[in-house]
Amino acid sequence: MPRICSMASEPNDVTKQTTFPSHVLKIGIVGFGKFGQFLAKTMSRQGHTLIATSRSDYSDICQALGVTFFRDPQEFCKERPDVIMVCTTILAMESTLRSLPLEELYITNTLFVDVLSVKEFPRNLFLEVLPEQCEILCTHPMFGPESGKDSWAGLRFVYDKVRVGKEGSCAQKCNDFLSIFESEGCKMVEMSCTEHDRYAAETQFLTHTVGRILSLMNLEPTPIDTKSYETLRHLTETMSGHSMDLYNGLFLCNANSMEQMEKLERAFDTVKNDLLGRLHGMISKQLVHRVPGSAPSPPASSTMDANSLKGAEKSKIQT
Ligand code: NAP
Repeated sequence: MPRICSMASEPNDVTKQTTFPSHVLKIGIVGFGKFGQFLAKTMSRQGHTLIATSRSDYSDICQALGVTFFRDPQEFCKERPDVIMVCTTILAMESTLRSLPLEELYITNTLFVDVLSVKEFPRNLFLEVLPEQCEILCTHPMFGPESGKDSWAGLRFVYDKVRVGKEGSCAQKCNDFLSIFESEGCKMVEMSCTEHDRYAAETQFLTHTVGRILSLMNLEPTPIDTKSYETLRHLTETMSGHSMDLYNGLFLCNANSMEQMEKLERAFDTVKNDLLGRLHGMISKQLVHRVPGSAPSPPASSTMDANSLKGAEKSKIQT
């Protein structure tokens, strides 16, 4: 049965009531950047034992969070965590995983988890690099330190049990790991890595791309901003908070991203050509009609001025 406990992880934290998973896990975080720290706070509050290793020294931050930090990946692996959760950037995952002394884990059934924003890439890498006895769970929490700062309730958590036994200790570890998110109220979405990447290119990569394009236009607030314009400005602000490393990873490590980029380009060309084509048609007709003797005379007011453009716009709306 899950336990109900209350505790605060930091002095300024609002004390939260949390349903603890029935088994306490020893979770080893590889890559203790923004997202690793963000996840560690909740896992630590839930009562799990946290250890971490990273390229940079996070000893002080770890101490404040109740996480044991290991500079040396060998010492980290010797701790034999139940779960190793990879939280590096997408592009740093391969070199980081390959540099871990995996031989330290050969006798244990470690569950490897990743939280990368693409899924086929880490799945294939895990399958290639990890020994048979290590189990694999690929995940993507569809939220971050900003959207999940107050609560994870209702936020989506995507996962794929790539190599997890149906029963036994590893199946239990996997369920305990998933219940960290379930107990916080996440919407649990079980989905293959392939399916995730298809959807993610259509949603996340597109959002990042549009945000990046708009941010190049330096959208400024004006005294007559509409709600829609405010939404666009908000998008550029949100996207500028993400690193270029993440965007490069979303593009390079998701096979569907290039197609989305091309679709976006084609859609922009279609809109532009449609608009210019219609205007060109309207205006050239009016110019031809001005020549005496050619077709019926145009209305007296018809000149290539602001009225023509208004008319063109009207006919566009009517079609
Ligand atoms: P981040 O703050 O840039 O942290 C990335 C981590 O990767 C750091 O620990 C960093 O090491 C490590 N790293 C970067 N380059 C490296 C290299 N060349 N060699 C070794 N380690 C390297 O990024 P983040 O926001 O925490 O995101 C981490 C992962 O979570 C990404 O894969 C992202 O797709 C995923 N994710 C993020 C969010 C989000 O909202 N942030 C949401 C869902 C999923 P050091 O700091 O030790 O140098």
